[in-house]
Amino acid sequence: MFDGSTYKRCKCTEPKLDADGQPIIDANGKPKVRELGSACPLLKKRDHGTWYYYVKLPDGPGGKRRRPRKGGFLTQNQAKEAAQKLWDQAQGGIDVDTKETVAEYLDRWHAKRVDLKRKTRFGYRDFIDRIQTCPRPPRTPRPPHPGDVPADMGIQRDQEGQPGSG
Ligand SMILES: [Zn+2]
Repeated sequence: MFDGSTYKRCKCTEPKLDADGQPIIDANGKPKVRELGSACPLLKKRDHGTWYYYVKLPDGPGGKRRRPRKGGFLTQNQAKEAAQKLWDQAQGGIDVDTKETVAEYLDRWHAKRVDLKRKTRFGYRDFIDRIQTCPRPPRTPRPPHPGDVPADMGIQRDQEGQPGSG
């Protein structure tokens, strides 16, 4: 069992009040608000808010606290399962600090590559989509680097820049 917890919260906000109970106005003349988080009374309703987890991992280098958390789960069980998976990965030595999955990383990478030829871009998209059908994608091994090409894709680029065509 993972070390951590699950909780439900939502994005409802309420006006921030000063000591006199008056709304605090920000520099733009708008009332400041704060999220109710897990204190929202509507959270008793099944369809209000989403489930989150947080996992307590051993401190990182330099005593850096590591408490990965994530939300958007429909049920507490889903949040628990995801937390357990993360925990297991951490026990297996995978760097779980990065919140970005490889799938997210590749999507972000692809979205930026508007410089590619249409065919090439399409080929990469197809490649990425096929990677994403893997049941347990590993996490991003390191931060993205300029000119990065996902493994295997750079090797067979021909003059047209189209993967695998020759
Ligand atoms: Zn709420």
